Amino acid sequence: MQNTLKAPVTFEGIGLHTGKPAKMVVFPAAAQQGISFKRSDIALGDTVVPARWDMVERTALCTRLVNKAGVAVSTVEHIMAALAGCGVHNARIEIDGPEVPIMDGSSAQFVRGIMATGLQRLGVPVRAWEIVKPVLVETRDARAMLMPCDRLKITFNIEFAEQGIGSQSRELDLRNGAFARELCDSRTFCRRVDVETMQSNGLALGGVPGENAVVFDGPVVHAGSGLRHADEPVRHKMLDALGDLALAGLPIFGHYIGDKAGHSLTNTLLRAVFAEPGAVREVTCDPVRTARLPGQGLVWSEIPKDVRRVA
Ligand SMILES: [Zn+2]
Repeated sequence: MQNTLKAPVTFEGIGLHTGKPAKMVVFPAAAQQGISFKRSDIALGDTVVPARWDMVERTALCTRLVNKAGVAVSTVEHIMAALAGCGVHNARIEIDGPEVPIMDGSSAQFVRGIMATGLQRLGVPVRAWEIVKPVLVETRDARAMLMPCDRLKITFNIEFAEQGIGSQSRELDLRNGAFARELCDSRTFCRRVDVETMQSNGLALGGVPGENAVVFDGPVVHAGSGLRHADEPVRHKMLDALGDLALAGLPIFGHYIGDKAGHSLTNTLLRAVFAEPGAVREVTCDPVRTARLPGQGLVWSEIPKDVRRVA
C-alpha cells in the first residue's frame, strides 16, 4: 500500500549553497499525490513545485527544481532520498526559503525524523516504474544507465585523483531498509581546491567543513569526528542517485549504474528513459512486488543513531 507520514515533521537549518536558514515541514498527503514542495515564504502566484524530473533545472552541484512561474527549491536530493528510502510515497513539503536545510550533509536526520513520526498506510496499492529495456546516457568521462531488474539496485563507481578519495565502487540492493542501514548517514563531500571556486560562484556559502560536508584536502580530511564509512564518498553518491531517481515520481524497479555520474547526468538519464518508447512501463504493485520496495522491512533499530566513525 502507498504510505504517507502519520503527522507533520519539521526540520530546520541552513542551505549548503545559499547559506540561508530555512524551516521545512513535511506534511502528510493523500494517495496518488506524490511528493511536492511549496514555498511558504512566497505569497503570490503558483508556489507549488512538484518533485518531478521535468521540473529539474540542471545544475552541477545540487538538484534544483523550478516551476513554470520560476519558483525554485534547491538541494532537494537528500530529503528525496530519505522519503524514497523510508517508503514515503506521498508528502507535501512546505519550506520558507530557497533551499532545503543541509543538516549534517547526509539524509540521516531526515530518516530519523520520518521514522520517529511514523508512516500511515493509505489503502491504495503502490504504483511503480518498471524499466523494460536498458537506457544509457554518457558524457566524455561519465555515464549513467538503467537496466531491467525486479528490485531497485544501485551500482556506483567514482574516481578522484585526490588521495583521500581515490577509486571507490559499491553495489547495493535497496530492499529491506538497506538505504537507512548502509547509505543514509553518508555525507556530501568535496575537495578543498573546489571550495574557493564554488564560493566565488556564489555556491557552498553555508558549507562548514566537518560539520555539514566532508572536505578532502590532500592527506587531511575534515570530517568532524572522522569518516562514518571508509568509502563514505561513494555511498553519498548512491544516496544522491536514489534522491535524483525518486524524481521519476514513482519508485523504480531497475538497476541504476553510475560511473562518475552526478545530479545532471542522472536527470538526463530519466529524461532519456521517458523519451525512449517502450523503455519503461507503469505497474501496480502486488504484495510480492511491494515487498521489494526500498522502504519495506526498514527496522528502527538499524537506523544509524548518531555519528559513527570508522574504527
Ligand atoms: Zn548529495
